[in-house]
Amino acid sequence: MKWNDKMNTRVRHDGPSPRPRLRLGGAVAALATLAVALPAAAHPGHPDGGFTAGLLHPLTGLDHLLALLAVGLWSRQQRHGAVLPPAFLVMMAFGAACAAAGFALPALETSIAATVLLLGTLVACAPGLQRRLPPQVAVVVVGGCAFLHGVAHGQELAGMASGAGFLAASALVMLLGALPGERVRRMAGAAIGAAGLCLLAGVV
Ligand SMILES: [Zn+2]
Repeated sequence: MKWNDKMNTRVRHDGPSPRPRLRLGGAVAALATLAVALPAAAHPGHPDGGFTAGLLHPLTGLDHLLALLAVGLWSRQQRHGAVLPPAFLVMMAFGAACAAAGFALPALETSIAATVLLLGTLVACAPGLQRRLPPQVAVVVVGGCAFLHGVAHGQELAGMASGAGFLAASALVMLLGALPGERVRRMAGAAIGAAGLCLLAGVV
């Protein structure tokens, strides 16, 4: 059955998708999100409380949005990557709780910009590198980044309602990041890494 062999080969390889429309749709969705977010300030600050304020914040803050997209993208490339988005949510909530209890970090905005550069670079790198990276290391990297984002939120976005909104929006953006195919993933990773550099340099 030559035809079957051909189909199996296609399924095994991470080559052209059998459903290119779906992948294209994911890429378009991700790019549309970026386009909506780009005119926004790098970080409009943390308005006070409320579910809606929490929900909107990661969508209007470029640094959060790009880091979340990168985690979603990476979750499809890294071995056992499915644990990365939940790890991000847990560690972000932990960071917010620590900050609410009085924990503070210097140069937090700079650190958060660095997480965008780091995560974007990891996504852009050859998938071969990521397959060799132990899942535990990936969880520690993502958890560390998430903790920083959480501390920023705990400091200024007070209240359980806004925290719940922020977690919901974050989960949604990471899900969106998991949609595109590998070629789009790597390009998006490079773009996110470059944006992280701009954020670090204070250009955006
Ligand atoms: Zn923020």
